[in-house]
Amino acid sequence: MKPIWRTPIQTLSLAALLSPATAPLVVILGLVAVSILSSWHSSVAGFEIVIDYSFDSAVLEDGAVSGFFNPSYTYADGSTGLDRRIRMERAAAIVASNISDELLPVLPGPDDTLVIRFANPKDGGGHTILNPVLPADTIIIYAGGRNIGGATLGLGGMGYVDVTWGSPEFIDAGQHRGEGPSGSMGQPADEYGPWGGSVAFNTEIVVEFEGAPTNFDWHFGETTEGLDLHYDFLTVAIHEIGHVMGFGTAESFDRYIDVGGTPLGADNSFIGPQAMAVWGGPVPLEGDSSFPLRSPSHWLAGLDEDSTVMDTTLRLGRRASMQSVDWAALADIGWDVVLIPEPSGVGLLTLGLAGMMLSASNRKPSR
Ligand SMILES: [Zn+2]
Repeated sequence: MKPIWRTPIQTLSLAALLSPATAPLVVILGLVAVSILSSWHSSVAGFEIVIDYSFDSAVLEDGAVSGFFNPSYTYADGSTGLDRRIRMERAAAIVASNISDELLPVLPGPDDTLVIRFANPKDGGGHTILNPVLPADTIIIYAGGRNIGGATLGLGGMGYVDVTWGSPEFIDAGQHRGEGPSGSMGQPADEYGPWGGSVAFNTEIVVEFEGAPTNFDWHFGETTEGLDLHYDFLTVAIHEIGHVMGFGTAESFDRYIDVGGTPLGADNSFIGPQAMAVWGGPVPLEGDSSFPLRSPSHWLAGLDEDSTVMDTTLRLGRRASMQSVDWAALADIGWDVVLIPEPSGVGLLTLGLAGMMLSASNRKPSR
């Protein structure tokens, strides 16, 4: 039962993040290699998530086109692009710091071809890149902002591999970073080794509030001070990175979905062994009525008193973080999670006013 002060969670029409059949595909040669190389020097040993802002774009209040993460810009909400990048990269570090997978580097030789595809953060269209270069143990996430529309806070999705050609070693690295062998979808059925993916954040959050569409701003703070009446960017950034990591997107996640009797019913659950061990049984999932044919890709809204980061909704003024069951799901997907903490079992005080959809995640195209 929901508290009466909590407005009904809206069922929103979410933008289809990837529409591979219709989206314009553009090949940009060499761009990704350049942008990644600028980040290499900061790499340290261990798994790393590199954030790339090459595809960031948004229309600002004055009509000028700039970026959601423009480092030289101070936005109308008082935050700077640098503030936003720091928080984005903090989210990446939070996830990466608890992962120990050793992924093969992607280093195309003269006879190798790799074409990757992702949802362009600036418009949601499919975008391809030829022969990206990736260091070992590193994935890349293209991050940006745009007016997604309505009360969708963010979108996050896995990266795809359209074409691989070359030596068996290169194909292995390009498709699944050595985490193979391949399953039916290219990725291993019981593992996950992506090159990365993309995330996008809504520049115009509009939520039905007390009967009227109301604009809300992000909260980019390191702490929760000032979070009231804002939506917490750090929480959403972690959530969208979770989708890039395969939550609700990877074949190895889907294998553990138990839809029960009804695809969108309350009996959908996740039956990965590590998540079940933490949760004490099947973990409730929430279907998405906007995509009735798609399998559930989130925890049930409000799971564990809104403490988990991968549930469907985020309430105003609320910060969530990776909980035991979130980490356990990543482990079930195939990631080597360093530490799955003991469940706290502490009921968290629920504050906030409005519930809303967090995101949609793209699905692998069926074929
Ligand atoms: Zn989501």
